[in-house]
Amino acid sequence: MKILIENIDIITCDYNSEDIIKNAFLGIEGGYISFISRTKNEEFKPDYVINGKNKILMPGLVNAHTHCAMTILRNCADDVSLHEWLFNNIFPAEAKMEPEDVYWGSLLGIAEMIKSGTTTFADMYLHMDEVARAVSDTGIRANLSKSPWKFDASKKRLANQMSDCFEYYKKWNNSANGRIKVSVEIHSVYLFDEESLCSSAQIAKELDARIHIHMLETLREREESIEKYGMSPVEICLKTGVLDVPVIAAHCVHLSKKDIEIIKEKGVNVVHNPSSNLKLGSGIARVPELLSKGINVSLGTDGAASNNNLNIIEEIHLTAMIHKGVNMDPTCINAYECLKMATVNSSKALGLEREIGYIKEGMKADVILFDMNKTHICPINNPISAIAYCVQGSDVDTVIIDGNIVMEKGQLTTIDEEKVKYEVKRISKKIFNL
Ligand SMILES: [Zn+2]
Repeated sequence: MKILIENIDIITCDYNSEDIIKNAFLGIEGGYISFISRTKNEEFKPDYVINGKNKILMPGLVNAHTHCAMTILRNCADDVSLHEWLFNNIFPAEAKMEPEDVYWGSLLGIAEMIKSGTTTFADMYLHMDEVARAVSDTGIRANLSKSPWKFDASKKRLANQMSDCFEYYKKWNNSANGRIKVSVEIHSVYLFDEESLCSSAQIAKELDARIHIHMLETLREREESIEKYGMSPVEICLKTGVLDVPVIAAHCVHLSKKDIEIIKEKGVNVVHNPSSNLKLGSGIARVPELLSKGINVSLGTDGAASNNNLNIIEEIHLTAMIHKGVNMDPTCINAYECLKMATVNSSKALGLEREIGYIKEGMKADVILFDMNKTHICPINNPISAIAYCVQGSDVDTVIIDGNIVMEKGQLTTIDEEKVKYEVKRISKKIFNL
């Protein structure tokens, strides 16, 4: 399908180009951005035209760390510590989840993400075949990680799933027209042990895959790591070869000076999840410091059970605010850096920087349009400030992924929202015996 978006203001999020292109024409053909011009390209005969008046176009947002199907557990264990939340609430509930439940929970999460402008997400969870099925069915793009080891809530190793990991990679990597990429999941150094860290790093090397890990989310994780391994989580990952492949490291709240040096040296991609870290009282990552050292910092929502939504616009807004307050310095992070964290930086974290994350001819057509004709955004004055500080997730009007319109005027085209809500309510009642 050929799509023309006319008279549109574009925020590019491209480090190597102008920030904003005003009143442009953007053509989409064969799933790619085929041209961006200031004048109408008469040779391009579109099948569909979108009027860009009163709208802003941006690259689709990339949620670099979530657990999509945890929407099922939304609003179920709030106002407790991470340890209490995870071991006494989440793990017991997840033990009751069947594969089909994860499919419906994923559909709900994907619906919510598309509606708030997310076109790609990085996920780690259980029953990952069902997550892949949901991604494939809905048209969204995703990096899905599969764990080579299974642990129970008492941190006991239950099963070696190496062959499942290979199978999963073979079955899903580059499937759904290339929209699905597969990574290796290492949940955390507190669930894993030295041997499973080494073997997981090995399998990632063999598959030429990335590793997706929770890293230094809490102070307790640091203390337990020093007790268990005699070193910090970053150091044990270095020792076991985990950092020898590209790593998506969620949280990174409690990094030491030495950890930061290692992360910089090894090119680890940090994912900042401010809502989840605030809600679980885990602390606040030193994002301005990491950015100033040239470390790639991206944005994630974490799961809906610790946020409690999957709206990355809210993470952009929080990132643009909290670091200024914490550092008592309004210049320590700016609006455009925050937009780039949720787009180009997140695409780099997922290894997709040649395909998505900024607006340029030849890139995959993952784009979103905001309806800017709203009272709470008026007058726009500076479009970048308007997106970082004013817009809500619900201001996203149109979403195009891989050249396909998956939402137009707020209406999803690939998901039956009412059916999905009905199924997830039914599953949630079953899990919590309501
Ligand atoms: Zn997480």
